[in-house]
Amino acid sequence: MIIVGAGIVGMSAAYFLSQAGWHVTVLDAEAPAAGATGAADGAVSVASKKAGPLMTLAVAGADLYRRLSKQGVLTDEFVSRPTFVVATEKHELPLLERHAAQLREAGVSLRDLGKQDLDQVLGAVAPGAMAAIEVQGDGHAIGYKVVERFRRIGSFIVKRNSAVGGLWYRAGRVVGVETQHGHEPADAVLIAAGRGSASFLGAKDVIRPRKGQLIITERGEGRMPLFPGPLMSCRYLLSKGIQPGAGESRSRSFGLVIDPLQTGQFLIGGTREDSADGGSTDVEAVRKLLSEAVSLAPALASLRVLRVFAGIRAATRDGLPIVGLLAAHDNVWIATGFEGDGICLGPLIGQVCQQLICGEPLDVDISALSPKRFPEAIAA
Ligand SMILES: Cc1cc2nc3c(=O)[nH]c(=O)nc-3n(C[C@H](O)[C@H](O)[C@H](O)COP(=O)(O)OP(=O)(O)OC[C@H]3O[C@@H](n4cnc5c(N)ncnc54)[C@H](O)[C@@H]3O)c2cc1C
Repeated sequence: MIIVGAGIVGMSAAYFLSQAGWHVTVLDAEAPAAGATGAADGAVSVASKKAGPLMTLAVAGADLYRRLSKQGVLTDEFVSRPTFVVATEKHELPLLERHAAQLREAGVSLRDLGKQDLDQVLGAVAPGAMAAIEVQGDGHAIGYKVVERFRRIGSFIVKRNSAVGGLWYRAGRVVGVETQHGHEPADAVLIAAGRGSASFLGAKDVIRPRKGQLIITERGEGRMPLFPGPLMSCRYLLSKGIQPGAGESRSRSFGLVIDPLQTGQFLIGGTREDSADGGSTDVEAVRKLLSEAVSLAPALASLRVLRVFAGIRAATRDGLPIVGLLAAHDNVWIATGFEGDGICLGPLIGQVCQQLICGEPLDVDISALSPKRFPEAIAA
């Protein structure tokens, strides 16, 4: 079995497939976690999902993190913590209510926080907050650390600097892949190459790059009040298209999250930009994010910014990932297009790929993610 791509999806699949007895080799054009997985915040978050398949899958994704953590597979790599979705303006209150109702319908435990509860739970962090929902059952996992854990405990081979240029056919059937170093034979192939998966599809516009810029501060060390989980602005829900709303540009939008990291630092994110220019950050975006962050949590102004970085998410045309058997093949699968949700969904999708490939019943319904919804594109 060959897996193309050593991001969180490919490495999770490699772990579960090797556990199921497959001999797995993972090929990466660069190195494990070289793509979006290494440039992400690690929100394992149901709070940030659109109602429907993604929200349902995120609930299952967070549950699997908890199970793997208990079983020793991801111990210390997953931290449970709530997310606070915060409204600071009156017109955001109906949006917050609607999102809360959708989360409740998906079976997520929530607590409504009015002004008084906010003071108790978030203290002096966000004095301007009018109301919030505390979304319980969320968590945090650092993508590259999850990948490294799977690499260490899984019985599979990872080859770096092994870009896959295409599928290798014999008598009309895939018998492996073509790499920069020659052919690699395989009885089955899983394409989990993030935005690199686009080159395995016939049409170019199914997967598009969505850049995200993130900011890391120094440690708070008493200057920033502590709070138990990330603050997510209502505007984030608009920026990600989770809730409908006006005023958001599709080509570049800002959705504020202030994430208290275990190190005592704060991660401030992020942008969603139609751009493939992965490494670059810009003053305008950083200025806007910092200004929104300080307006929600004024004590942040006393901290220095240590680092600003950017990564590229692989977004699909309809906002849902693509997972399943690649049409016209009986031994080539694809799992890609996780946009801003792949850290949350990575292990779950890795397990789903193992179940699909082994012909086992699936733990979750992935019919909405079928590659068949893009018939013109799945031509490899
Ligand atoms: C700024 C930012 C913030 C994010 N925050 C979060 C978050 O808080 N929570 C969350 O759930 N998600 C988040 N995400 C999204 C998450 O990082 C991605 O959805 C996830 O990492 C995708 O994993 P993947 O394995 O599909 O792809 P990737 O991690 O991109 O891995 C693909 C791998 O394939 C390799 N590759 C590509 N082409 C080829 C080829 N032809 N041959 C061989 N190898 C190839 C690449 O080198 C890469 O290593 C964020 C993303 C960004 C950019």
